[in-house]
Amino acid sequence: MARARLVVLDRDGVINEDSGEFIKSVAEWRPIPGSLEAIAALTRAGYRVAVVTNQSGVGRGLFSEEILGLIHAQMSAAVRDAGGQLAGVYYCPHHPDAGCDCRKPKTALLRRLERDLGVSLEDVPFVGDRLSDVGAADAVGARAILVRTGTGAATARGLGARSIEVFDDLAAAARAILAERP
Ligand SMILES: [Mg+2]
Ligand SMILES: [Zn+2]
Repeated sequence: MARARLVVLDRDGVINEDSGEFIKSVAEWRPIPGSLEAIAALTRAGYRVAVVTNQSGVGRGLFSEEILGLIHAQMSAAVRDAGGQLAGVYYCPHHPDAGCDCRKPKTALLRRLERDLGVSLEDVPFVGDRLSDVGAADAVGARAILVRTGTGAATARGLGARSIEVFDDLAAAARAILAERP
């Protein structure tokens, strides 16, 4: 099977500024400069772009799933306004102690994405800022990419001997992905 023209993105620290206090409202969702334009560039080049995000704030009782839906509607609208499109937004709402099978680095969300889009994530770029993103990418055979935004700079420093692609931000990662096209 040809490699899917697809890019998977973590949300917090990749598309929008992260917060140690969680993103609990639409007002707290602020895009990282260049990230919406990067998604638009990928969209224009024929890539589908999907978001896979851990949102344990729901399970912790910090915000409701309804609010999370509003935040994701706002994110999708902001992406559209920039000229891009999101093929899907997949989230784990569970508390870290819940033992679910969808909180990254677990893979249930990624497997659902594969089924929904009818593609394999083998070698598909998966851009994240945490080890849980790298772990999830590894577990499905995707191509782990780190950005230094969010907690990514610290994550990159802690990688040890593991060799992984690291970019300053999503804009730089998208440029690199797009430059590989034949
Ligand atoms: Mg993140
Ligand atoms: Zn979950």
